[in-house]
Amino acid sequence: MTKKKFCLIASVCLVFLTLTGCSNGTEADSYSTTVFAMDTVMELKVYGNEEPLEEAKNLILELEEKLSATSPQSDIYNLNQNGSGAVSPDTYELLQSSLALCERSKGALDISIYPVVQAWGFTTDEKRVPSEAELAKLLKLVDYKAINIDKKRIVTLAPEMKIDLGSVAKGYTGNRLVDLLSERGITSAVLNLGGNVHVIGTKPDGTAWSVGISNPAGEGYAGVVEAVDKAVVTSGGYERFFEQDGIRYHHIIDPSTGYPVSNSLLSVTVVGDDGLVCDALSTALFVMGEDKAAKLWNESNDFEAVFITTQGISITEGLEDAFSPLGDYENTKLTVLRRDGK
Ligand code: AMP
Ligand code: MG
Repeated sequence: MTKKKFCLIASVCLVFLTLTGCSNGTEADSYSTTVFAMDTVMELKVYGNEEPLEEAKNLILELEEKLSATSPQSDIYNLNQNGSGAVSPDTYELLQSSLALCERSKGALDISIYPVVQAWGFTTDEKRVPSEAELAKLLKLVDYKAINIDKKRIVTLAPEMKIDLGSVAKGYTGNRLVDLLSERGITSAVLNLGGNVHVIGTKPDGTAWSVGISNPAGEGYAGVVEAVDKAVVTSGGYERFFEQDGIRYHHIIDPSTGYPVSNSLLSVTVVGDDGLVCDALSTALFVMGEDKAAKLWNESNDFEAVFITTQGISITEGLEDAFSPLGDYENTKLTVLRRDGK
């Protein structure tokens, strides 16, 4: 094994240990906490000062109370029950940004998909396959353009419409955590919000963090991205699904059909400075499929992406030096997407 490869694997192990919450006993000065929120386990690890962790934990719980579609006290629950209402500044800000991202993705991301997600049972333990007629009826309620927000933070939905910020809430929360911890003087941290990873600065030794990308088709990791001050967010059908009559149905819905997305993509990882953009786009690009997703990347300058497909892995050119395949994927085809198809 070459020295470079050994160092990479050693550093990957370090971050994977970090991301799975097992702190490495030899790491001086690191502090961790775990929170269950937004339907996932979140792990925060900071270096240098333990104090801001409690505040960070409280921020997560506070945001969950505002943004959750299932918590009866939340702004979103209230909107879904009553069709309109005043929302908190956080919900207002996230709704405004989310609608812009729905538009940017031409509706591949649609935060009003909730009635369809509910029909599939993804919000409960009772998953089911809805009938075509039921889906056709519910799809008529899905249209982010019919969400109205005024400057006084009053939000109005179309009749029977329901919204869900599950595709964007963790990205927004990650951004808020990075701001909070940075304001408190933290210069080195890894925040793993269940598949949404935000890294602050570098590792204490000055090298980049290594963030693992799960193998969407099996065990372990498909690759690793080296990142400094970035969000690394993955969406994939493998994350939440059920099987019926030998068919697998997952939780990311194509708003044009009402069915779980079915294309060559197994997962999409988006890397960028803004965690909310990365979260929204990882979901949206997964819905769009590889060709349309690559086109959107080509027209954008605020993110890079790793596409794991049934054929192999494609990465955008900005990740050429930052991405390394791992495990089963070391021997599959790796394509680098160039701007303007060069
Ligand atoms: P993510 O894990 O960020 O890709 O978000 C997936 C979650 O967003 C799902 O569990 C649903 O709650 C919701 N969702 C599913 N499909 C869509 C869609 N096309 N647009 C917006 N949200 C969606
Ligand atoms: Mg998302």
